[in-house]
Amino acid sequence: MRVFHSPKHRLHEPAVEVFSGRTGPSWEVAARAEVIRDALAADPAFVLELPSEHGLEPALAIHDAGLVRFLAEAWDAWRAAGETSDAFMADTFLHAGFRLAAGGGAAALSEPHAPGGRIGYWCFDTATAITGGTWEAARAAVDVAVSAADAVLAGEPVAYGLCRPPGHHAGRSLFGGYCYLNNAAIAAEHLVGAGAGRVGILDLDYHHGNGTQEVFWERADVPYASLHGDPDRAYPYFTGRAGETGAGAGAGATFNQPLPAGTGDTAYLAALERALDWLGGRHDGILVVSLGMDTFGLDPLCDFALTTPAYYETGSRVAATGARLVVIAEGGYHLPTLGENVRQWLRGAAGLPRVDSEAIDPAPAGSASVG
Ligand SMILES: [Zn+2]
Repeated sequence: MRVFHSPKHRLHEPAVEVFSGRTGPSWEVAARAEVIRDALAADPAFVLELPSEHGLEPALAIHDAGLVRFLAEAWDAWRAAGETSDAFMADTFLHAGFRLAAGGGAAALSEPHAPGGRIGYWCFDTATAITGGTWEAARAAVDVAVSAADAVLAGEPVAYGLCRPPGHHAGRSLFGGYCYLNNAAIAAEHLVGAGAGRVGILDLDYHHGNGTQEVFWERADVPYASLHGDPDRAYPYFTGRAGETGAGAGAGATFNQPLPAGTGDTAYLAALERALDWLGGRHDGILVVSLGMDTFGLDPLCDFALTTPAYYETGSRVAATGARLVVIAEGGYHLPTLGENVRQWLRGAAGLPRVDSEAIDPAPAGSASVG
């Protein structure tokens, strides 16, 4: 299987996030992508490749040009304003109340001039700092995603884009949740543009992919199905309920399955089957899979209880639909198992035999969640 990976992700390593009142190092660390790369590099079934350059066009096909411009300029603007912190983070957000306070006028809707205002205009949380290398890493992740999509367009049954930073929380004009540019959405749009017809997105990260849902909310040609922690308890809180099904031309083309704390292999696989049934007939042969591994029982941020064998089974069942797969890395924060769980998923998707991995007995972790 062809695996795309860029070492440029290492340029992005935020030293701080604020989550649940805790100020600490980000959970979204460079080691995440490194352990996945190492696990796949050690298995001869996988061939690692550098991505090819695609410029900004794929990102601009999904994101507001203002957001892309801000992300490109943000670090230099922050430094030029005399700031010396290693992490540029939002402290003031464009809450709807500001628009009301300004009478809903144009001034309240336009991007401010000060860096601190600009980041609050585009960002939605305190987990997603910008550092000196963030933009280059985010651009490289887009190249990784588009290169994986190109491999499938060229005939591969499945390809993996080891994207970092992840992407599924980034919407058309907002970023957050460790995500800056929406790699999966960009890959899907690239596939549509290349003549792949309708392209389905299956989001298997623990968290709801609010950004991907928003991007394709009014589109019937990119149906979106997600399994995730119920927003009544789980980040990003505001989206992911079963009643959210799309609008306009996309009415009925979004399918959310919020799941309870402690969801284990059996219940998860049953939900997966419902998602695959729903996607069947809604796409023309290619699925983009947002593959987060934060559904694992030992994940420090999430509260599902999946085990390693379930990942092989999940990959196998998704591939058994007959769809070709562009698999895009999203979240997953338990470093000791992250690489092996990805490897098992991809081996299942490739129709390779399951290999024994060290027995791991996950117990449900805490309920805190972001990413
Ligand atoms: Zn996640």
